[in-house]
Amino acid sequence: MRILVIEDEDTLRAQLVERLRREGYAVDETGSGREGEFFGLEYPIDAAIVDLGLPDMPGSNIIESWRKQKRKFPVLILTARGRWEDKVAGLELGADDYLVKPFYHEELLARLRALLRRAAGWSQSRIEVGPLVMDLGTKRVSVDERELELTALEFKVLEFLMLRADDVISKSELTEHLYEDDSERDSNVLEVIIGRLRKKIDPDRILNPIETIRGQGYRLRLAKRDPST
Ligand code: CA
Repeated sequence: MRILVIEDEDTLRAQLVERLRREGYAVDETGSGREGEFFGLEYPIDAAIVDLGLPDMPGSNIIESWRKQKRKFPVLILTARGRWEDKVAGLELGADDYLVKPFYHEELLARLRALLRRAAGWSQSRIEVGPLVMDLGTKRVSVDERELELTALEFKVLEFLMLRADDVISKSELTEHLYEDDSERDSNVLEVIIGRLRKKIDPDRILNPIETIRGQGYRLRLAKRDPST
């Protein structure tokens, strides 16, 4: 998942970015409202964290601009204590949630996960695709109650595929949402990760959980098991 952070307080932004990367998110960051607006329009981001008080452009204008131009990714706004008018304006212009500074990083991460999940149409932190179950909060994954041990990158790839189950997702779309830096995008790495996920999810090779659609990409598709068989 790729997150855009627009925050002009350098220390706060650096802490936030560091924490998000540690959680496995790809992060684009800026302290400039105008640059942030541009990133949101041009980059394939999954969610944005926007400080409302920015020197060159109010955060609420950025959100308004994105929404006018049909960018529907969820937006979490950050506001200074006591600026409740800003918060209301931000929400009315299309933000999805807010946090008042100072906040705990854990709370921000929990809200961000909830926004990403809801944007993909899931209302709970536990998502299920056939026998495959992922808890986005605890980061546990199991198949038919057998727990899987996944690396951070395997988890991120599987999370993206599960949130978009049944859709065909191209390799470039997957890598764009997993890495912010072009130089890290290597489709061979992705193929290796997909191969490892297939083995872990389906060691007996009966489910074919991740299909390769020739020339198009990957699709995660798993039917609910018939309990009688
Ligand atoms: Ca600020």
